[in-house]
Parts: sequence; structure tokens; C-alpha cells
Amino acid sequence: MTDSIAEIIAGARREGRVYLLEHECKAILRDIGVPTTSGLVAKSEEEAVSMSEAIGYPVVLKILSPEIVHKSDAGGVMLNVGRGEVRAAYNELAARFKDRHVVGVSVQEMARPGLEVIVGATRDATFGPVLMFGLGGVFVEVLKDVAFRVIPVTQRDAQEMMEEIKGYQLLQGYRGQSADVASLRDILLKVSDLVTAYPAIKEVDLNPVFAYPQGSLVVDARMILEEETTGQVVAPPQSPPTLGGRFGAAPQADLTAVFEPRSVAVVGASATPNKAGFNILQNLLTLGYEGEVYPVNPKAGEILGLKAYPTVDQIPHQVETAIIATPAGVVVDVMKGCARKGVKAVIIISSGFSEGSEEGRRLEDEVMAIARQAGIRLVGPNTTGIFNGENRFISSFAPIDKLPSGNVAFIAQTGLFLGILLDHILTSQHFGISKVAGLGNKADVDDADILEYLAGDAQTEVVAMYIEGLSDGRRFLKVAREIAREKPLVVFKAGTTEAGAEAALSHTASLAGRAEVFEAACKQAGILRVNGFEEMLDVVKAFSFLPLPTGNRVGVIHYTGAGCVIAADACQKEGLELAEFSPATLEALREITPAWHRVRNPIDLWPAIERNWLEIPYGVAIETLLGDEGVDSLIINLFAIPRWDTYIPDFDVLRASAKPVLFCVEGNETHVREAVAKIEGQSFPVYSQVNRAVFALSCLTKQARFRGLI
Ligand code: ADP
Ligand code: MG
Repeated sequence: MTDSIAEIIAGARREGRVYLLEHECKAILRDIGVPTTSGLVAKSEEEAVSMSEAIGYPVVLKILSPEIVHKSDAGGVMLNVGRGEVRAAYNELAARFKDRHVVGVSVQEMARPGLEVIVGATRDATFGPVLMFGLGGVFVEVLKDVAFRVIPVTQRDAQEMMEEIKGYQLLQGYRGQSADVASLRDILLKVSDLVTAYPAIKEVDLNPVFAYPQGSLVVDARMILEEETTGQVVAPPQSPPTLGGRFGAAPQADLTAVFEPRSVAVVGASATPNKAGFNILQNLLTLGYEGEVYPVNPKAGEILGLKAYPTVDQIPHQVETAIIATPAGVVVDVMKGCARKGVKAVIIISSGFSEGSEEGRRLEDEVMAIARQAGIRLVGPNTTGIFNGENRFISSFAPIDKLPSGNVAFIAQTGLFLGILLDHILTSQHFGISKVAGLGNKADVDDADILEYLAGDAQTEVVAMYIEGLSDGRRFLKVAREIAREKPLVVFKAGTTEAGAEAALSHTASLAGRAEVFEAACKQAGILRVNGFEEMLDVVKAFSFLPLPTGNRVGVIHYTGAGCVIAADACQKEGLELAEFSPATLEALREITPAWHRVRNPIDLWPAIERNWLEIPYGVAIETLLGDEGVDSLIINLFAIPRWDTYIPDFDVLRASAKPVLFCVEGNETHVREAVAKIEGQSFPVYSQVNRAVFALSCLTKQARFRGLI
């Protein structure tokens, strides 16, 4: 079997070209079943005329030269050329580009006007090949109204990326023009397959594609090849070397020893309060770690009432895991001891590795080499490491007095989680924690490894991640996609403003910034994006406490008219629908509120409160709305101020319903804090503003949709 696509690529390579000319691209496209205008190439005036005769008038003539990438900018496109005009047009092009290594002149039919769209592909440093779709012309160039997906895309991805652009309405039909969306989806899928099958193709620009009410036609195409001549893809230059690459694949061993050690050595244990090696030991003791603890310190003796040993391999008992908190310089020696002792996992707290200097990187490599050779899993270096709410194992050096166990897991590149942020969570939140993994430099164990472990962890029901960078975006995406089907995955990614692509020949590559591609990857994986720690906690506590809704129709109870308007706005912004109350609900609400008051959703309870005070209005409204089949979820707004009592609902009523119920409490700080403690103590999330409650609910709804519950 001859592969004509591979031949076209090889032909360009032989000529030292990375840029495939329009007629070559069109040959490739026709090969994969994508319709294009003619790919005929005239090398003489006579040929141009006879080709035009065969095609029928009017025709289009375009210059074909490896030196000319943007043909019309250079004056190389002649549109609407009629019978009798072909010779002149051909000669004009030939004269204009006579010194430009012209390969020939493309002769093609003048396509009837359609809606112009662009389909493209490029390669992202983290996620590999990505696909782009947008409306052509100013929509792409000025408005950058484009959508991305990581390749390979599914039918659904292809459909969603079209629907995502602002101009989608134009495709659906506007002023008599419309586009055959199915034919565009087909082109998207075929381009996805093409760049998957031919990794040598680095960028694709089909610009424009004319979309008609029936069918679509590629009018112009360019493709850019990878630089190297083998046709194999290597990681693009800006991609950081992945450790899988430097040290071979990570051992398949799971992370049991990382999270669930039965015995642990604390290397660098210290008797001096507030030193890292002191706090780690103290945390293990005060938080109630269930396994054996062996301090390691060259001076041995006794630390915090435990017998200390001079080195790991001198401990006369089994040691499953070591927490290393020594100066970086001695870590290599410690690792050797751990290897001799048969330790299965190490958590390296020490800094002074690849995060700081080239020398540190070399040291980290040396440490990793020992770990790989001995089959030791390594967390860090440069981190606070691990917490496991089940066996109470902890490696953090931040002083922690209490740490309630629960169903939320955190993964973070920063050690902040087991340090300052944890304190923030512990003092402001009422949900418990199942696992924390602070990954530091990610020399071995990375985000995807932890996600894989958490997928199988019965205690974890929600996963929250803080990410700065990913070394292997494709593996992360695969694992994230799997876990997100079962457990909500909430991600806060920082560093998204970084400019993505370097100078690029194709439109697609110039538009594919890091942020856009990450955003697309999240959508494909069902990841819930948040934009800060505060939003992360808002969403996490909703998942930690509540069931998922089975629809997107919200009922809102407020105590002011303004609150009702703000809530309605927030619902609309987040794609939630205000439920339409059933006749029975409306009747029940009318009974508690004055006759002049108009009852609707959101319900303003104030007139009823004025008449009856709090118990009856709130009690009736809550019970009625929870009983209304047209209401899928409920947001209850309360106030808490001195001298007026704060309404605290009957939690049994809330729990008896399978619908998510979220609260918003406003008022006096002290009183609000008391109300929050009461309500969250009963596992219902409370927010300080209604729009935050709405946002959290919208995430629950998205997750329900992703799981096919809606
Ligand atoms: P380039 O992108 O290299 O400048 P194109 O081949 O895209 O050149 O041509 C420029 C514009 O001319 C296109 O955006 C399209 O609007 C129009 N055009 C090009 N080829 C045809 C054709 N065969 N039929 C109708 N219009 C065409
Ligand atoms: Mg073009």
C-alpha cells in the first residue's frame, strides 16, 4: 500500500521544506475525505487556460511558492477571473513573483460564497496536539472567537467546540445564511485523525472553509511540518523534560507506602521546638498517627519521648516510609541508607534542589536515581508532603494542633496546603479532610499519580487541586477524565496569563495560548475550574456536604427584594434556571404572605416575616419548595444580627429531601459566625453572598450533568 500523505510529507522534506503548499495540503485533505476546491497546478499560461476551461468560469488563480505563506497579503491571489482573463492574470502573477521560487499557479473554481470558518491544529507544549475552530476573517483575527480541544476529539467535543464560540448563532442561521454543522463536525474529526496519524504534521490551518447550508468546502489550506527530518515528534522545545523521560517510567508500585505507612522514620528529627524535624514528630504524635515512629538523628538519644537512631539502617525494626528533613547536602546519603533498609517511600521536605539552582537540579537527579534503582516512591523534594485523615499520617513541619478527617482531598504543587492554607481551612471551614498531597518539585510522584490513588480511595469524595504547571498534560488529562466521572475534581490553576505560543506560521498556533488550551482540556475532562482559593473552598464545601441535583431548576428564598434580584441575576449568569413554582406551592406561599404581595421565584419573604416573624414564613417556604417537584435545589438566605433572633432551620426536614440546600447568611460578623457554625455543623454549606452560593450550586449542577444525572 502506498501512503500518498507520507509521500507528500517526504517530498517536502527532500526539498528541505517544513511548509506544505496549498495544492499539497488539498491533496492530503481529499485523501482523508475532506472536500476542497481544485488542486490543479499550472506551470504555463497554456496549462492555466486549459485547466480553467475544464473547471469552468470564473476561476481563481493563486501563486504557489515555498517563500509565500500568506498569499493574498503578497498580492498572490486573483479572484473571479473570467474567460479571456486567464492569460493576463497568469502572466501578472508570474511577473510579480518571478524571483520567488514559484512552483506554479493554482487554478481552482471560484467557490460560491458561504460562511467562512477556520479549522486548525497545533501542538501545545503540555497537552500535545490540539484542534481549533472559529469563524473566519475578523472573527478570528480581531475578536479571537475560537475554541480549542485536545486531540483526539470525540463527536461531542467537536460539537461542543462549535457551540462554544460566540458566533455559533451565525452558523445556525442568520439573515438567510446558515451552515451545515454536521459537515463541519466531520472536518474537525478528520483533522483530529490526520494529526494523530501523522505526528510529522505540526500545524494545520484550513482558512477559510466555506460552510454552506449543505456541505462545506476547504478553499485554502496550509500545513507546517515538525522541524526534524525523521517525521517523529519529539517534545516541543518549551516542554520541560519529564521525569519519566529522565529516569524511565515510574515504577507501577502504588502509593500505599506514601499515604498509609505502618512505620515511619523521621530523618532530621530534632528536640528543638519549632525546627522542622521537631514539628513533624510532634504532629505525628498529637494528630494521633497510628503507626510506629522512629526519630533519626546522628546524636541519637531520645526525642519527644521516643528512642532515636543515628541512621535509618540502624533502626532494628521495619521502616516502610521515611520523612527526610535534613539539609539538602546529606539527602543523598540518607537515601542510600533508606535503599539499604528497604524503605518503600520517602517524603523529602528539604529544599535546595531543582527549585533553586542548577546544582540543586543535579542533586535532585542523584537522589532520584537512587530512588528509581531501589524502587522507592518519592514525594517532593521541597514540600510539606502528605496527610492521611484515615491513619492520621502526616509529614508537615507546620505546627498543627487538630485536623478533622473528612471526604475532601487536596493536591497542591505548593506546600502551602499543609501549612498556612490548612490553618485557614481549619479555622474557617467545617468540612473534613481525607488526604493532602503537597508535591513540591514533583521529582517522582506527580499530580496524575495522586489522582490515580485518590480515584481508588474510599474516604475521598471530592478532589481539589492547585496547579502551576504540568509535566505530562496528556497523562493528567486521561487520569483526570477517569476520576472526574466518579468524584468532582475542582482545579485552581495559576500562571494562566503566561503568553503561550512563540512566533508561529499558522493562525492556529498564534491563537493557542496556554490558558486557552488548559481551559479546553478541563472541559474535556469534566474538571471544574475555579479562580482562586476562596472559590475553591466555596465549591469544595458544597461537594463535601451535599448530594448532586437532578436538574438545574433553583428555588431561592430571600428576605429582601434586592436580594431576590441579585440572586436571579447570579442564576442567569451561571446557567441555572429559576424554578417555576407549582400551583400548590404558590398557594401555600400566598397563605403566609399578605394579599398584596406578589409571590414568585425568588420569593421575597419579608412581607410574611413582618406579619408572622421567622418560624412560619421560613418553615413553610422551605418545606413547600423542597416538596415541589419542579424545584431541584434550594438557596436559603438568612440574616443574623444582634437583638433579632437568627432563623435556624429544622435540619431533619432538609435532610429528608434529596435536594441540595445551600445557605447565605448576612449581618453582624459575630452572629453570622455563630449561625455558620450551627448550619455547617449540620453539613449544609453557608456563603457570605448569594452569588457565591449560586456559583457553588452551578458547579454541583455541572458535575451532575457530566455524570449524566441531568
Ligand atoms: P491566503 O490565506 O494565503 O492569503 P487564500 O487562499 O485564503 O490566501 O485566499 C484569500 C481569500 O480569497 C480567502 O480568504 C477567500 O475569501 C478568497 N478565496 C480564496 N480562494 C477562493 C476560491 N477558490 N473561491 C472563492 N474565494 C476564494
Ligand atoms: Mg487563507
